[in-house]
Amino acid sequence: MSARAYINLQALRYNLRRVGELAPQSRVIPVIKANAYGHGMLEVAAALNKITTFAVATLEEAMLLRQAGNTKNIMVLQGVSGKKEWLQAAQEGISPVLHHEEQVALLESIDLPAAMDIWIKIDTGMHRLGFSPEHTQAIYRRCQQSGNELNIRFMSHFANADDADDDLTDTQLQRFLDVTKEYAAERSMANSAGICVFADSHLDWVRPGIMLYGVNPMLSGTASDFSLQPVMTLTSTLLSVHQRCRGDAIGYGGAWVCPHDMPVGIVAIGYGDGYPRHARSGTPVLINGNRVPLIGRVSMDMICVDLSQCPDAAVGDEAILWGDGLPIEEVADSADTIAYELLCKLTKRVKFVYS
Ligand SMILES: *Cc1c(COP(=O)(O)O)cnc(C)c1O
Repeated sequence: MSARAYINLQALRYNLRRVGELAPQSRVIPVIKANAYGHGMLEVAAALNKITTFAVATLEEAMLLRQAGNTKNIMVLQGVSGKKEWLQAAQEGISPVLHHEEQVALLESIDLPAAMDIWIKIDTGMHRLGFSPEHTQAIYRRCQQSGNELNIRFMSHFANADDADDDLTDTQLQRFLDVTKEYAAERSMANSAGICVFADSHLDWVRPGIMLYGVNPMLSGTASDFSLQPVMTLTSTLLSVHQRCRGDAIGYGGAWVCPHDMPVGIVAIGYGDGYPRHARSGTPVLINGNRVPLIGRVSMDMICVDLSQCPDAAVGDEAILWGDGLPIEEVADSADTIAYELLCKLTKRVKFVYS
């Protein structure tokens, strides 16, 4: 049987309530880009039906929501470019982020068919997208005088908010507040980490992504630190169990050699499903409630586990790769990556089950 990702929509809604508790004065824009961090964008949007505004990365993602009948406001974090995209965004009630000179010039040269919300992005220190603080006033004015009916808002994004000791976060927030204080415009700055640990950054709108999916947004720790519940539980089954002997090399390259006689199990999951190929020996897997270590190399369709501590494990038993009872943050650490990447990388072979 193929791998399954169980998506717990109750947990998703619970995590959204946690955002509300942490940032009680702010409105919430759930970030559902990259197929809702791999959870299924349409299902996630449908489950959060009380929300007024969602955020996605691209106009294509926004249009997938529209084509599915979703009529909510949609913020497009990468913005739109070219006349055709601006017209389409205006027509569809989609709100782009404005982060580049070229977009401003275009706004000045076209007649939008409808009023539009836009978010001017200020680069407060991440140096990825956005206008420098010094240019913000001129950009704001040009938008106002562009001849289009624009409801202008401000946003910026933290670079290091996942590290509570990094001073840049405070510096970024101060720059943002300084530049925007003279305007009545609504403001948005906080991602999940900002929501969890920088209350001053909450402002009018918060933009939670990873925490909605029940992952701790900080550099270390797990979801329970912020009373979040994992939304995805990735499972598969034990395909085989064999007693191996001391000295037996397990899997490709013989990368792991049995130090003593021991039972070895084979779980039907691999990098062909999106399980990280670089997960080290020792990465935890949960079988019948026991944590057992992965051993040897991850293959395309299978991984090997040491069943010494789980001698009753039998063919057909369920294995949990992350989720309920096994924090994805730990698996990510063991694979030298972050939970965001693990969640986004599941492949089409994994069957999604929503409840
Ligand atoms: C992805 C993204 C978010 C959400 O970040 P999380 O760390 O997942 O909460 C917020 N704002 C912007 C601009 C983003 O690109």
